[in-house]
Amino acid sequence: MTRGVAILGSTGSIGTQALDVLSHHRDEYRVVALAAGANTELLARQADEFGVPDAMARACADEPGVLAELASLPEADVVLNAVVGFAGLPATLAALGAGKRLALANKESLIAAGPVVAKARAAGGGEIIPVDSEHSAVWQCLRGGRASEVGRIVLTASGGPFRGRTREQLQAVTIADALAHPTWSMGPKITVDSSTLMNKGLEVIEAHELFDVGFDRIDVVVHPQSIVHSMVEFCDGATIAQLSMPDMRLPIALALGAPNRLPRSYGAIDWSTVGHLDFEVPDLTTFPCLALAYEAGRMGGTAPAILSAANEVAVEAFLAGRIAWTGIADVVQEVLSAGAGNADEIDDVLEADRDARERAVGIAAARSTR
Ligand code: MG
Repeated sequence: MTRGVAILGSTGSIGTQALDVLSHHRDEYRVVALAAGANTELLARQADEFGVPDAMARACADEPGVLAELASLPEADVVLNAVVGFAGLPATLAALGAGKRLALANKESLIAAGPVVAKARAAGGGEIIPVDSEHSAVWQCLRGGRASEVGRIVLTASGGPFRGRTREQLQAVTIADALAHPTWSMGPKITVDSSTLMNKGLEVIEAHELFDVGFDRIDVVVHPQSIVHSMVEFCDGATIAQLSMPDMRLPIALALGAPNRLPRSYGAIDWSTVGHLDFEVPDLTTFPCLALAYEAGRMGGTAPAILSAANEVAVEAFLAGRIAWTGIADVVQEVLSAGAGNADEIDDVLEADRDARERAVGIAAARSTR
């Protein structure tokens, strides 16, 4: 019996790497659906290569209903949600509601709608296996002890391209500077998020939602080599870490095969070239987005949705050359400072998202550098 896999966001960085993994496991997995945004040419080539019928290969960037439909297809055992941003929420809810395995690369849906996602997971019986490299690492480390024995989670951050710089030095960085990630090759949104450390902040909230650990027990440590992907410290002080070369195909393959590991290596370490592994504390003055994410996580309710929505708008404005890199944190802080409400129902989250975007657009326009 082969397992059916639906890949949402198939033409992006995670989607194309997932298809690369699947191309080596055609006996065990078949691709049953593909969803992409504007890159219809690549989507058609992928459908052709993996034998996906035209009706199941959809360019549906502006049609959340189609994502939800593909995420709950009876033929799909695993749904890889690699849609960018809040737009991935309908797929997350539909997959979990239909009792699927959700291989989650779209962290925004979990961050924005944590309580709603938890309800969908409980009601539908679906499971989440994280694809984010840090959370995949934590998921692996947690096998080293019981949940009740977990002391804290330590997420590693590469530090991005601006590690070691001061806020003053970062006033005038360019879009190209922010897109030049030292260790990971990823899409533009997440690469900018890595440069501000907002990505790490979102991952702190993601870890809280996935593993049910309080914010006081989730730490971030900067580790520029991106070899240690995260760690779990247990109650006796023992820390278990997961190490591999930075290659997203490893967490993708694990999310497909879990609890088993697929027999193909993507991250084997060449110890003759690794040299040393460095660790340092993050600089919250230069990278205020990380502190803002902790703040939003502790506020709870719709605060993470507001944080994430404001950040999406701010990053878009930065990538369009409208605001400075330092303006991203300023926009998020100003939107978040208005407070948050309850996030018990999907409508609460949708409204908070809409409202935060509207305010962020206004604030970004007022800060426009051109
Ligand atoms: Mg990550």
